[in-house]
Order: sequence, then structure tokens, then C-alpha cells
Amino acid sequence: MRVAGRITAGARTVARQMLAAGITTRQIDKEVHDYITKAGAVPSFLGYSGFPGSACISVNDEVIHGIPGKRVIHEGDIVSLDVGAVIHGFHGDCAGTFIAGQGTAEAKRLIEVTRQSFFEGIRFARQGYRVSDISHAIQEYVEAHGYSVVREYVGHGIGAKLHEAPEVPNYGHPGHGPRLVKGMTLAIEPMVNAGSERIRVLEDDWTVVTADGSLSAHYENTVLITDGEPEILTWAEDL
Ligand code: MG
Repeated sequence: MRVAGRITAGARTVARQMLAAGITTRQIDKEVHDYITKAGAVPSFLGYSGFPGSACISVNDEVIHGIPGKRVIHEGDIVSLDVGAVIHGFHGDCAGTFIAGQGTAEAKRLIEVTRQSFFEGIRFARQGYRVSDISHAIQEYVEAHGYSVVREYVGHGIGAKLHEAPEVPNYGHPGHGPRLVKGMTLAIEPMVNAGSERIRVLEDDWTVVTADGSLSAHYENTVLITDGEPEILTWAEDL
């Protein structure tokens, strides 16, 4: 899991460093694919339920699952980069939202609140707490800042499969769900909308967008539960 996590985090960094006005989402996807395969791993998303890319690239009002393609990134776009890699039978999964060039103050704030909500959540990613203690901490932080959390898509267990039990929602009352024990690995991934929590899926059957057209941000890491501090397996210095 640590090896998979390191490769996955590296792929996210490669994607982030490419982000600039004028580039297409397909160009980013190709570099992510090449980075993962050169590391001896396989992109987890490629072919997953038929997904055609190695990265999910979701721009502005797109929440998650954006399909890489001809779309050109423009100055000030906010771009969610979600990548996964499997090696020796184990997966890593991580994401982040970044601005191409100079973004608005509002976009920066949305991204920072989304990122920080992950860290609020993992204060409870420790042996003895329950899954919804993480969920509740994320929701509380996000809503205190005037944003909303997506309900239909959630974090998840991860290991020999990309998506495993338990679900890790980004909302809910504390004290519910499985109790966390040392050795569990979870993909914790707040998806935060600047406006309403409501979403819809585009006709490509993949891309999830905000129903009201507001901006959306995503932040995800694969996390190992220990008997002390959680270990972020997809950690990167620049995140
Ligand atoms: Mg995930």
C-alpha cells in the first residue's frame, strides 16, 4: 500500500505541475498514464467500469469523474486531478484541486476549505473512533465555511480493490459505522460545492457537475489507520 501510495502521489504531482492555460486534459492524462506505467504500476481508473482515462480531470463546476479529452484549460480554471495506481495487487487513490494560473479569491478559499476539511476529518482517523466521526468532522468544517458537501459520492475502503467497504461519507452524525482498527486503509475524499450540495451526471454517464453551476473542489488521500497518528500513504510535500 505504501508503494502504491507513493506512485499515486507522484502521478498527482506530475498532473499538477502540468496544469496551465492552453493544455488539454488529454495531455495531462497521457503524462499520468506514462508516469504510472514507468513506475511499474497500472492506472487503477483506466478501464474501471469502462472509464477511458488514467486520471479523472474535472474542471470548475465539474465535481468528479471528468473524462480527459480535447478540453483546453483556461487561465483561472480550477481543476480537480484524481489518480489511482495499482502495484503488487494493491491500490493507491488521491486527488486535489488546483488553479491554472491566477484564480479568484473565492476559488482559492473553496480549495483551501476543501483541503482543510480532509485534515479536520483525519483527526478522527484513529483506532477506536468510528467511520462517521470522520464524516461529521468534514461536514461540520465545510458547512461552517458556507459550503456544502456532496452526498451521492463518498470515500471508501481501499486495498486489493480500488473501492472496498466501508463507505466513508463526508457528512453524518458522529458515532456510527464500523469502528476503526489499526491496519485499515481508507480513501478519505471530501467533495465540496461552493453552492448547493445537489449534483447531476452529464450525458457521458461519467462527469458529475454541480446542479447550480457553482464551483466544486475535491481533496483525497489514502490513509492508514494506526494505533497513533494516521499515516497518509499518498502524502506529497507540496500538498
Ligand atoms: Mg477515491
